[in-house]
Amino acid sequence: MNSAESAALVLAARDRGWLPAADAEGADLVLINTCSVRITAETRALGRIAHYAGIKKKRRNFTLVIAGCMAQRMGKELKEKYPEVDYIIGTADRSVFPQILQEAEEQTAASLRDSSEYGENAFSFSNSHFEEGQFRSFLPIMHGCNNFCSYCIVPYVRGREISRAPDAIAQEIRLAGESGIREITLLGQNVNSYNWKVEENSVDFPALLETVAVQAKKNGVKRIRFLSANPRNFSPQTIKVIANNEIFCRHLHLPVQHGSDKILASMNRGYTAAGYLELVREIRAAMPDITLSTDILVGFPSETEEDLEQTLDLMEEIKFLYAYMYHFNPREGTAAWNLPEQIAGDVKRARLSRVIELQKKHTKELLKNRIGSRERVLAEGISRKNADELITRTEKDEMVVVPGTADMIGSFGELVLDSLRGNTFRAKEFFPCHGD
Ligand code: SF4
Repeated sequence: MNSAESAALVLAARDRGWLPAADAEGADLVLINTCSVRITAETRALGRIAHYAGIKKKRRNFTLVIAGCMAQRMGKELKEKYPEVDYIIGTADRSVFPQILQEAEEQTAASLRDSSEYGENAFSFSNSHFEEGQFRSFLPIMHGCNNFCSYCIVPYVRGREISRAPDAIAQEIRLAGESGIREITLLGQNVNSYNWKVEENSVDFPALLETVAVQAKKNGVKRIRFLSANPRNFSPQTIKVIANNEIFCRHLHLPVQHGSDKILASMNRGYTAAGYLELVREIRAAMPDITLSTDILVGFPSETEEDLEQTLDLMEEIKFLYAYMYHFNPREGTAAWNLPEQIAGDVKRARLSRVIELQKKHTKELLKNRIGSRERVLAEGISRKNADELITRTEKDEMVVVPGTADMIGSFGELVLDSLRGNTFRAKEFFPCHGD
């Protein structure tokens, strides 16, 4: 989501004739688009803000802007700590960015403005989120979240769910297709609770997927993915639509977070481990070749060894292709901030290591079994290590390196997975798919 919103801000600047600077130190404007979801992301953003505030103390002729959900959450604190920051714009206030650019152009920036000075803004979607020259893009379809998982800051910093109008989504797909985008990832904190309503008309997630598939095919987009799908809202109708339409990649990110019902309830996830397993069974029955990835959060307050074992059992039963694994860090302002029975740091780290170890084993096994299979891939770019090799991606989100040239970038081809180095496949030859 942060990437998509950053791309939209870059486009807004390009629209006014701004160009990327060779390096941030020489820029006329520095924009830091922050994320609040993980504490590590906030810590990194704070480091960058301190760095540019330091430069600004010595060289005052650039505009420093902090955007995103950390700006929303900590605006006042940031203002006090870094008076060098010129503008602070929260998640609902990106629409004021062109005005900020204009003020920067006119060099009339009053020191330290925040978006509240521009009036109350409701969240609005940018018109487009793809970058020139790219072949894959993110496309936000909804914003915010109503789920209030007890550990998560998102509903507080991004607000309640808002669904983007289907017409605006279709228009962005058209523009993206025209500019050469071949793969789109639909984005939202909880995409399958997408529900757009105006008067009598309403469109839910499966209905949107059907429209998206038609628009994508019409405009040369060949692959659609979506992120993140919460298991609690994943409907049978959604499974049916994906299964019936091959434009939807046979890979699904389905965050489970934990395998213990006690912990899932305390996290307020709204499903049980058995419910999750049943959903996976339904998805696999409809699409036997689908691969799954997930998020796993260990070390949640009151988690016992037995709870952890249940998580490892669930992983064993499902065998995810990959997982984002992390341990619990209490976030101030969330329901889990002050929960009793917090787990000691060394215990959390040890449990996380066990989860990571098991996941590595599964990833290795699953990838090894894929050697020899023929895959359709999208060539995304030239390898950083070898200018005569292409980096390509399968629909299961696997990377494959294959000999090739720059003129193949952006096209689809077929190849045979020949060997594996780390988690990246290698192939010997790229056979272009004609008509793609
Ligand atoms: Fe956060 Fe839960 Fe919403 Fe995901 S579904 S954004 S974890 S509150």
